[in-house]
Formats: sequence, structure tokens, C-alpha cells
Amino acid sequence: MSKGSINVAVENIFPLIKKFLYSDHEIFLRELISNATDATLKLKHLTNIGEAKVEYGNPQIEVKIDKDKKQLHIIDQGIGMTQEEVEKYINEIAFSGAEEFLEKYKDKNADDAGIIGHFGLGFYSAFMVAKQVEIITKSYKDEPAVHWTCDGSPEYTLKKSKKIKRGTEIILHIADDSTEFLKESRIKELLVKYNKFMPIPIKFGTKTETLPKPEGAKEEDKAPTKEVDNIINNPSPAWTKQPADLEEKDYKSFYRELYPMQFEEPLFNIHLNVDYPFNLTGILYFPKMTNDMSIQKDKIQLYQNQVFVTDNVEGIVPEFLTMLRGVIDSPDIPLNVSRSYLQADGAVKKISSYITRKVADKLKSLFNNDREDFEAKWNDIKIVIEYGMLTEDKFFEKAQDFALYPTVDQKHFTLEELKEKIKDTQTDKDDNLVVLYASNKEAQHAYIEAAKEKGYEVLLLDSPIISHLLQKLESSNEKMSFVRVDSDHADNLIKKEDEAISKLSEEEKESLQTFLTEIIPSEKFSVQLEAMDSKANPFIITEPEFMRRMKEMQQTGGGMFGMGKMPEMYNLVVNTNHELVSEILHTKTQKKKERLVNQALDLAKLSKNLLKGEEMTAFIKRSYEMIK
Ligand code: ADP
Ligand code: MG
Repeated sequence: MSKGSINVAVENIFPLIKKFLYSDHEIFLRELISNATDATLKLKHLTNIGEAKVEYGNPQIEVKIDKDKKQLHIIDQGIGMTQEEVEKYINEIAFSGAEEFLEKYKDKNADDAGIIGHFGLGFYSAFMVAKQVEIITKSYKDEPAVHWTCDGSPEYTLKKSKKIKRGTEIILHIADDSTEFLKESRIKELLVKYNKFMPIPIKFGTKTETLPKPEGAKEEDKAPTKEVDNIINNPSPAWTKQPADLEEKDYKSFYRELYPMQFEEPLFNIHLNVDYPFNLTGILYFPKMTNDMSIQKDKIQLYQNQVFVTDNVEGIVPEFLTMLRGVIDSPDIPLNVSRSYLQADGAVKKISSYITRKVADKLKSLFNNDREDFEAKWNDIKIVIEYGMLTEDKFFEKAQDFALYPTVDQKHFTLEELKEKIKDTQTDKDDNLVVLYASNKEAQHAYIEAAKEKGYEVLLLDSPIISHLLQKLESSNEKMSFVRVDSDHADNLIKKEDEAISKLSEEEKESLQTFLTEIIPSEKFSVQLEAMDSKANPFIITEPEFMRRMKEMQQTGGGMFGMGKMPEMYNLVVNTNHELVSEILHTKTQKKKERLVNQALDLAKLSKNLLKGEEMTAFIKRSYEMIK
């Protein structure tokens, strides 16, 4: 037996390791299983090239809890280590790696620690949870096995061992403050979280499997059972396969595997697969999207060589795609850096734009191959697409081919098709193309009807970020503007040359204006007399497009205006050609006049969904009075 002292500058590295990344202690298991996997894959490689003259077989990694001894064992059948290798790789390299790591990061702020935690301390992370660690290892080379023990001080012992089977066993003597890692449920949770798709089968205990009944068995006979290894991982998950080898049902069942608690089927998937200029594989899924973007539990998972790293892909995947689900696996994403650095990293930028391009290509091919199906799914995918158009210029360009603009009657146009369709009817006198839209079919019903009456198409655009997107569409399409149907009365939505002739004289108009302004609260409504079709409603409340859109943008985080909360401002358009308006003008008694105005105003409010509470009660009472 030999004793040695690990040569480190930091005298007591272990307390430091323990303190560091306190919440991330659990990563020790991922690190040790990664090492076991590496050792097994190395052996596979060496036997493949004829370097190692041993039988590779069907190696497993086993994780075992010994509750009585308070030990956790991680056992592999990989290449193992000779004494010389333990001295070199464990005592020198791993240790100096850990030391360097700590030196570099111990002063970093908590924000950075999040992602650094995903980048392990390697073998020495075992000391975050163990008061003593043993390594019993036998190399594939014909050399005696060795037994290394270290209790958390820089001293270690190294002696010969009787181990005959090739491979490495790591024994952790779990520290008193880490006994959670002796619980089966906790270890299982970690194995599922980090190792679910690792490439070597991982055994954790056994399970009972029911076998088919033998032939001729009676109804009441119990089916035979047997104890089998409980393998917790799927060593060859779908994303590691070639797209050509997978069918639709394979993608769907992989989705189930990833998100066992998800009952909705994904809408479609995108298989990512490149090896140059960076290596990236993965499968992304478009889930059915709800309008509530904040609740999103099942996120995209990031792996490196089938080892789970994180489900926070912010900075790696363009923001609009973080709403998707699935897996990305790339060894080329540097994780030992902070988020802000990550976003500036050249490789990461390339990865991000590759993903954006693949998503756009997929959407385009879905649109081209089965437009009907694409239209049917539009409502569920539009949030992602619209958000992408708003935030990524490249995606905005590509989306011109497949972004849809549905009408209130469920017709779907691309922007080009729409322009073509409405250019004759909806071009105003200044040669601007006016696209009309509604945000709520029910609430804006009267306005939609009035616009349709005039032969206009009305889109239904109801995403929460739509005003931002319209702003962007207007700035990239000259002579085109979007106007909501309730932003003016139908005659004025698209201004044409011919103006209707007013039935009222100038004097009558003046007296009407004066009278109305007296009874209608001016802080809320600005009264506008308009000569319209005599069949159009007498009173119409409108909300000017510009102010309304700015207000919406402010609410959804436009951040472009320094002003406080914008006031609600409406126009009250009074149709001077309507009979009722003449009646108001010519009624003699002041009281009756006021009643007519209030009733008409309430009806206009009702049609704009503005009549509520006390006003509504008064309206109902007055209406009963009038009909009795
Ligand atoms: P890394 O895995 O990044 O090289 P680690 O600290 O995790 O760093 O491990 C240090 C070294 O110890 C490994 O590179 C490997 O040579 C050796 N090693 C660790 N675990 C095993 C194992 N289970 N079997 C064989 N060698 C191992
Ligand atoms: Mg390692």
C-alpha cells in the first residue's frame, strides 16, 4: 500500500467544492455516470480498432445503494485504470482540473453559476456529497487491479485489489448532510433527469416482468413472472437516428417518452441533423399553443452527447422558438461561460440561425404540401410564427411564403394573395391599400357587418402581439396600412372620393354640435358630425387606430413611449343624414331631446361593448319606460 498527498495549491479544496454550487450538488451522479459511459465507449472504440484484445460484450453501468453502509456504488465495465493511470488521471489531472475550475469561478456571481453548474467539476464533484470516496478499478490491460481511497483531505491511499472483472467501481461514503442520495426515489429521479437517454444501458435494481402464459394454461392460472434488470434509460433515442429511418409514429412515441405527462399530441416535428460546421442533432416539436405564453412547463431540453444539461435554452435557441418542445444535442455549445457571453459566441450564433432556418423550411414545406392542413393548424402555431416574424428579420423574410392572414369568415390568405384580392375594393383615394381587421368577432360584430356591407374583406387578427407585428408589416410594405374595423365608421375606413351630401344646413349643424357637446362628456368622446348613408346607424363610437394601437403596444411591452398610461379616447360619429338626428334637432322640449341623445349614445356604447354597471342599469330602466 502506498500513501500520497495530492499536490494542490488550494490546501483544502474539499470544503470549497462542497460550498460551491450548493443547489447543484446532484450533478455528481451525472458526472460519475458520464465517466463510466466514457470509459465504456473508449473500450468499444479500442476493441473496434483492434487495440484492445478483449470481448466488448454487452456492457452495462450499474448504480447501487447500500443503505446499511450508507454507500452509493457506480460500477462500469469500461476500460478501467492501471495504478499509473489512477495516479495520473485522478490524482493529477482531475484534481488540477477541479482546482482550476474553482479558481476560475469561485468569484463569479450567482447568475453565472447557473450555467457553470451544468459544466461539471468532473470526478471530484463526488466530494460534494461523500465524506470518503473509493475507486476499485481493473484496466483492460493485463495489470493488477488497484484500490484508491481518499477521505476528503489531500491525502490518499493506493493499494492492490483483488478485483478480477474489468472496469471501475466508484464507492461513495455518503456524508451525513447528503443522506437524500441514499434514497431510492431521489436517485431514480436523478437518473431519469440526467441519464434517460445516455448511450450505455444503466441498471438500477431489478423489476418484475410478467411473461406470457404457457400454452394450455387455465384461465385462473397466474401468468409466470421473472426478475429482470431495471434499465432506466433508452440508449438510442430517436434524435440519434437518421430521419430516413423514422416514421411519424416514432416521432410521436418519442414525444411521449420526453413528456410522459403531456396528453396532447404535437402538431408536427422538425428533425435537426448537421455535422458541419458544427455538430447538432435534435427533434423539435410544435405543441398546440395556448394564448397564455407564460405557463410553459415542458421545455426544450439541451443535451451534450446524450447527457442532459439543462432545460433552459435561452441564448442558444432564438427566443421565439423557446415556446417549442423537444431535444437539442450538441457538443459544440460552450457551457462554461455566462449567458451573456453565450449569445455573443460565434458557434452559438450559427447554431441559432441554423435552427431558425430549419424551422422556416419545415413550415414552408408543410404549407406547400398540404395547405388545408396547415390552415387548420394555423391558430395553434400562429403565436410562434408571428413572434418569430416580429423578432427575427431572417424569419420575417422567409415567413412571407407561409404566414397566413385569416378572415372573419375563415378564409386564409398569404399577404400577397390578400393584396391581390382587395386591391380593387380597398385602395383609398391616396392610393393606399387599406387592410381591415377585427380582433374579436363578437365584440366588434356591428363594425364587421358594416364593413362587409361595403364589400370589404375583414381579417381576424387576435394574437396578443398583433399590434407590434402590424407596425412591422406597415413599415416593410409601402402604401399599405392596417385599420381595425371599429376605428372609424364604415364610410371613412377607406376614404374614397365621393362624399355624401349632408341634409343639414351649416346653421343646423352648428346648433346640433353645440347641443351635443353640452350633454355628452367631452373628456371621453369627441363629437364628429358626418354626412353618411341614411341607413347607417345614427350614433357610432369609434376608436382611432393610431392611439389604440400605441396603447396596446404599450400594454404588451412596446417600451417605446415614455408617457404614462394613455387615456381612453373615443370618437362619437353622428350621422347627420339619419332621421333620428333630424328628430333630435327639431324636438322642442329640452327633456325629451336629452332623453333621445342619451338613449342613442347608450345604444352606440352597447354596440362597442362599453355599456357597463350603473350606466347599463340606467339604460335598461329608461328603455322600459320608453316602451310601456
Ligand atoms: P473528464 O471526464 O472531463 O476527463 P473527470 O474528472 O470526470 O474529467 O475524470 C478524470 C479522468 O479520470 C478521466 O478523464 C478518465 O481518464 C478517468 N476516469 C474517471 N472515471 C473513470 C472510469 N469510470 N473509468 C475509467 N477512467 C475513469
Ligand atoms: Mg468526467
